Amino acid sequence: MTQTTIFAKIINGEIPCDKLHEDNTCIAFNDISPQAPIHYLVIPKKPIISLLDSTVEDKDLLGHLLLVGKKIAIDRNLKSWRTVINTGEESGQTIFHLHIHFLSGKIMKWPPG
Ligand code: AMP
Repeated sequence: MTQTTIFAKIINGEIPCDKLHEDNTCIAFNDISPQAPIHYLVIPKKPIISLLDSTVEDKDLLGHLLLVGKKIAIDRNLKSWRTVINTGEESGQTIFHLHIHFLSGKIMKWPPG
């Protein structure tokens, strides 16, 4: 299922992205439809559908995704940001390949909608 997502195509290089980081296990790129002045995504290369589908085997990978996203934030001198992982359709997940949103550059409200 995840092989057909747009993120699988980005990982494979079939479609371009505004890349911020790539290593053996993940890739980070700017969101094509930013919801804040800064909005980027960190995704695993492993085709995990959502956080619901992750397992204990993914423990190190999940931590790595967060730390890569943090490094990008630090490199951009960000002091405050929001991380979001939508899981399942009702949460707003639209692409069924696990991804972590990093949003910054504006005052954010809580609770989210
Ligand atoms: P979600 O709604 O949590 O599944 O988030 C999917 C995100 O992927 C949305 O914020 C989209 O704007 C973003 N997106 C969709 N296609 C692309 C693309 N080709 N490049 C970068 N971001 C994308």
